[in-house]
Amino acid sequence: MIAITKSTNNKLSKYNLLNEPITFGTIFTDHYFEATYANSKWQDAHIKPFTKFSTDPTLSIFHYGQSIFEGLKAFKTHDNKINLFRPYENFKRINRSAERMAMPAIPEEYFIEGAKKLVALDRDWMPNKPNHSLYIRPFMFAADHIVKVRPSDTFQFFIVLSPAGPYHGGNMKILVEDVHTRSAPGGTGSIKNGGNYGCSMLAMKNAMQKGFDQVLWMDAFEHKWIQEVGMMNVFFIINGVVITPALNDGTILPGVTRDSLITIFTKILHLKVEERNIHIDEIIESYKNNTLQEIFGAGTAAVISIIDELKYKDVHIKLNIDEHDDRLYSNRAKKILNDIRLNIMPDTHEWLVPVC
Ligand SMILES: *Cc1c(COP(=O)(O)O)cnc(C)c1O
Repeated sequence: MIAITKSTNNKLSKYNLLNEPITFGTIFTDHYFEATYANSKWQDAHIKPFTKFSTDPTLSIFHYGQSIFEGLKAFKTHDNKINLFRPYENFKRINRSAERMAMPAIPEEYFIEGAKKLVALDRDWMPNKPNHSLYIRPFMFAADHIVKVRPSDTFQFFIVLSPAGPYHGGNMKILVEDVHTRSAPGGTGSIKNGGNYGCSMLAMKNAMQKGFDQVLWMDAFEHKWIQEVGMMNVFFIINGVVITPALNDGTILPGVTRDSLITIFTKILHLKVEERNIHIDEIIESYKNNTLQEIFGAGTAAVISIIDELKYKDVHIKLNIDEHDDRLYSNRAKKILNDIRLNIMPDTHEWLVPVC
């Protein structure tokens, strides 16, 4: 059972979401979902007014990083119905993350019904404009008060919502990271735990200081095999073929956007898609012989981010790409994904889950 306490203090009127650009992840709605795991069971599921919550400095998560999260979006169709996009994929993934991090599984009711009820309650926060959405951030963390290292016995699970507009980042300039790594076989690269992001901040900071937007992560042993770009899955188009790293060694996050794009490229655009290992030399070679057409990152927040520059040691790849060119495979796939979300194109894969 999910209890609901409505806020009496609506903050929405403080923002001008329709006319001012929204910086991703900075604005939060009037309510959040909260539940506690204690005495070996989930309890106190509650949608309540968004407030601060109190704790003390010994909270386990502050010390040992036992935390996981998800990210998904709710969209409005052209006829004003609100849907979550593939939420069961995120639900399955958060419980794979929970298992890997020795945390309890989250009940489906909390994750799916919790998100639906919360979105329904705060639906006015979804800007009524093309390419806008509500970003849904479920997360769980260790809540024991102890500084001894051991898996926590208590956990807290939250869902918060944040209105999101289109990404205006423009094309991305990427540095190939060949010193630091984010993920190795047997590690946690294929789940969304907080530590994966903590350990990637330095590389990101260094790259930004050198004028790049993000790094391209490479394998932990040779620093030659491509993994991901920042916090996104990476795709290459070479000679009309779509290529993305395979998921087989557990170092790559299985993105829902990645999976949706693979379906769109194969089933709708009828392109050949290869999920396999990609060596950096293959990319450089394809650039030199003019078969490298596109590079892009894929993830829920930005959907697709076009990459037009890639620097690896002293090789500088520069693709002449107009990000608005609707002949690009990336833009065609992005448009199809958007049209499915808006219900302009039929949702033949049952990706949309109605909120009410
Ligand atoms: C979340 C995430 C992605 C993208 O996953 P989506 O389900 O498409 O949002 C890719 N890589 C990393 C490292 C991520 O954390």
